[in-house]
Amino acid sequence: MKYYNIPIFVPHYGCPFDCVFCNQKHITGEEEIPCGARTTNIIREYLETLPEKDRQIEAAFFGGSFTAVDESLQLELLQAAYEFVKNGEIDGIRLSTRPDFIDEKIMERLVKYGVTTVELGVQSMNDNVLTASGRGHTAGVVEKAVGIIREYPVKLGLQMMTGLPEDTDERSIETANRIIALKPDFVRIYPTLVIRDTKLCSMYESGDYKPQSLDSAVVLAAKLMEMFKSNNIAVIRAGLAATDEISPGGALVAGPYHSAFGELAEGEVFYNKIQAELDDRKTAEIAINPKDISKAVGNCRRNIKRFEESGCKVIFVQDDKVPQGEIVRKD
Ligand code: SF4
Repeated sequence: MKYYNIPIFVPHYGCPFDCVFCNQKHITGEEEIPCGARTTNIIREYLETLPEKDRQIEAAFFGGSFTAVDESLQLELLQAAYEFVKNGEIDGIRLSTRPDFIDEKIMERLVKYGVTTVELGVQSMNDNVLTASGRGHTAGVVEKAVGIIREYPVKLGLQMMTGLPEDTDERSIETANRIIALKPDFVRIYPTLVIRDTKLCSMYESGDYKPQSLDSAVVLAAKLMEMFKSNNIAVIRAGLAATDEISPGGALVAGPYHSAFGELAEGEVFYNKIQAELDDRKTAEIAINPKDISKAVGNCRRNIKRFEESGCKVIFVQDDKVPQGEIVRKD
């Protein structure tokens, strides 16, 4: 079974907040507000590109704060997508929103219109970081929203950011621990990027904000991934998807951007695992699931090169009996 999201971006429209890092137009690469008819067209066109069988599909309203937009527009968009749920062409609807725009009435509406997954932008569970980032809510609001969502039959995803103003690695780890305690079905990890025309960009230019380096963001994301994974919480994305806007030469001004950020972080997870097996040894034969080989070798052979530089030789043996994500030392 393969999972597909049909992305429908709902830009900044309706969001009364101004998170310092956010310029939704640049982040989604879209400015136009979708309407019901456009939603129908997007879903219909996307469906034509998908295989007929063994598929699980959700229409995905991303990019803004869905439940904060005008209620009549929410209903128009939901109704358009729900038609496809009712006739069995898609399996559900997912959306992302803010924790302070969740209550029982909102959840009743979402469930009534076939919403199956709700993602909350948590960003941090540290109130100093939330305030410095202009989020306009506290960590307590996140906990309350999660409690409400859990009363309904929907999957819950939580998104966190690293490298926010006033953030530290320790605070990100504390955020991850508090997210783990909320038992989401999955998480996303986004390192903070400096985007043009944002408050963060002014802070960066005046020297009031220093972004994470790519290396430190990768090392931290790898740590967070391991924390979530060891608590059976899937990390479905690390790093923003590349768009024409979010890339060097686009609206990206600074920050730990890499087009394969998630791959770098997964590679780091394997690097740490292999390093732990090496101990004081200079050579090791490591069995690994064939599907993990590129992660273990690392982006552009980054891990192999690092082992070689430290005088170690690691030989990978592909073995499909080794569970994905794990390694087994053979010698
Ligand atoms: S709540 Fe979301 S859409 Fe609104 S400013 Fe913050 S990040 Fe942007």
